[in-house]
Amino acid sequence: MVARKKRSGPYWIALLLALLILATLLVAPRPQKKVVIEIDDLWNMEEGGQYFARYGYSLENYRALTDVLDRHGYVATLAVTPHIFIETENKTLPLRSDEAMLAYLRGLKSEGYEIAMHGYSHCLNRTYCDGEDASYENIADGKQELEDLFGSPLLTYVPPGNLWKEGQYQNVRSAGFKIMANSPFTSMRFDGGVLDIPRAYDPVQMWGWYTADFWLAPRNEWVAAMEKSDSVFVLQLHCNTFDTREELDDLDAFLTYLGGKNAKVMTYSQLYAEAAASAFG
Ligand SMILES: [Zn+2]
Repeated sequence: MVARKKRSGPYWIALLLALLILATLLVAPRPQKKVVIEIDDLWNMEEGGQYFARYGYSLENYRALTDVLDRHGYVATLAVTPHIFIETENKTLPLRSDEAMLAYLRGLKSEGYEIAMHGYSHCLNRTYCDGEDASYENIADGKQELEDLFGSPLLTYVPPGNLWKEGQYQNVRSAGFKIMANSPFTSMRFDGGVLDIPRAYDPVQMWGWYTADFWLAPRNEWVAAMEKSDSVFVLQLHCNTFDTREELDDLDAFLTYLGGKNAKVMTYSQLYAEAAASAFG
């Protein structure tokens, strides 16, 4: 008769250790996902109403969008343009003269939303104003204008069209901004006290630039983009793709999903404060 080989001590210890590690991994809390919601293209809508309505932009559509966030108790970063350029008339409209928009934005700010700068005139039309959003003078002037209008320092810059024109990145830094949204860098990083944040996820699908045909990517694509992101997920929203009840319901469902994931929804400036605390102690 062959004697059964007895399991040796080290075998059992190794097995127990492996089980212990597995159990720890299963029950350990996953790091909370950080999510920033960025709402773009807030500017003088009153005087440019007809022009913007063509693209689905209106104060009413913005209100409907932020009402959805409010229902979830979330705040967002508002990307605001101080002097919007109207290409069909070759003129700019100052935010300062749209009292309804100012009142709306100030109300959101008092709820904890962040005001950020979104270019100087959001002019992406080469014929009229190539470089207008990129010059140091305009960036510094626009920052001052928004600080006067909203009564507190601006920290975040969001480039129009997610594009960095020549010299723009450095000029934005020189003007004193601390948070570079949609930066040219693919992961979040601190550089000389400035926080670079990777490109946001934009669920807008469109046929081409300056067209009025927009639609939303299916929600499972938003979810996939969020699951794939590492340090922070930024959702970029424009009100023109949320001008139907179905689209607003899509956003509502996504925010419910974020709640179920226990995501930490914050503004860029709140993200900066957290990142600075962990980077510099
Ligand atoms: Zn924009």
